[in-house]
Amino acid sequence: MVRILAPDRRAIQEAAGILGAGGLVAFPTETVYGLGAIATNDRAVSRIFTVKQRPLHNPLILHVLDRAAANPLVVWTEPASALADAFWPGPLTLVVTREPSAPISPLVTSGLPTVAVRAPAAPTARRLLEETLLPLAAPSANPSGRVSPTTAAHVADGLDDAVDLILDGGPCSVGVESTVVDVSGEQPVLLRPGGVARGELEAVVGPLAAVGRDDTVRSPGQLASHYAPRRPVRLDAGDPAPDEAFLAFGDVPAGGAVSSNLSPSGDLEEAARNLFAMLRELDRDDVRAIAVAPIPRDGLGEALNDRLARAAAERG
Ligand code: AMP
Ligand code: MG
Repeated sequence: MVRILAPDRRAIQEAAGILGAGGLVAFPTETVYGLGAIATNDRAVSRIFTVKQRPLHNPLILHVLDRAAANPLVVWTEPASALADAFWPGPLTLVVTREPSAPISPLVTSGLPTVAVRAPAAPTARRLLEETLLPLAAPSANPSGRVSPTTAAHVADGLDDAVDLILDGGPCSVGVESTVVDVSGEQPVLLRPGGVARGELEAVVGPLAAVGRDDTVRSPGQLASHYAPRRPVRLDAGDPAPDEAFLAFGDVPAGGAVSSNLSPSGDLEEAARNLFAMLRELDRDDVRAIAVAPIPRDGLGEALNDRLARAAAERG
């Protein structure tokens, strides 16, 4: 059994010690729980790929405390600076040209000339970064392709003692992954919708270009099937069948064999916080599929619909 500790001072120091010795520590961010390794340590970073069974061509996000900590790693552009000033710390990842002398394992960027960085807002993540004083490579702390973890128990379910320690900061406050924007060039490109809504970003840097569905060079990790429960997922379901689990949204009657409501009041932020935990709860052997009610596409709804579309996608 993996050890799970409340993130007090001693636990943070112990976590930093484990990371410094090349270990893996799962920790809460405001988006989902991350599986962290010191980004300069080749062996530790390679363990992330092994433990998650993540393809090596899917690069990792670097977590830093702030812009100053990102300086040795990235070549700043005007839109990158504007977005970091507006949204860091927070659920926004910037893809920028990698500083050639950046002291990070080449595995982090999968050999790309760019690097993805973000400054998390969650207090436990920040305290850990303050203690290590080094960038942490941290993808979601779950087996590749499966539902992301938003509690310490979810991490233990998926990875157990493949992780050296889990810091338990309670449920994640945002609940879906960060928004990923490529700001390495002149026009920002939205690579993945997430915790910061498109409209908020566009208010700062103007219109975001969309990435082509199969632009695998720009966005290597955006595989079609992802965030997948074991049961099949059926989208835009008005009327669940008696042998389906029902993931409802808003003021709709419960239905199916069992149901959960992402947000009875129709609040997209509440729905984002609940999404992954409810997908897990409804992923039961005694149902044929998970039917999901329609969810609005505005604001955080773009990220929710993105995750659900991938959860429903044909499995590879
Ligand atoms: P996650 O699976 O949450 O760790 O998200 C990481 C995602 O960020 C990857 O799947 C990529 O799509 C994206 N990403 C990370 N690094 C880069 C990069 N250098 N260039 C483009 N996208 C990146
Ligand atoms: Mg992930």
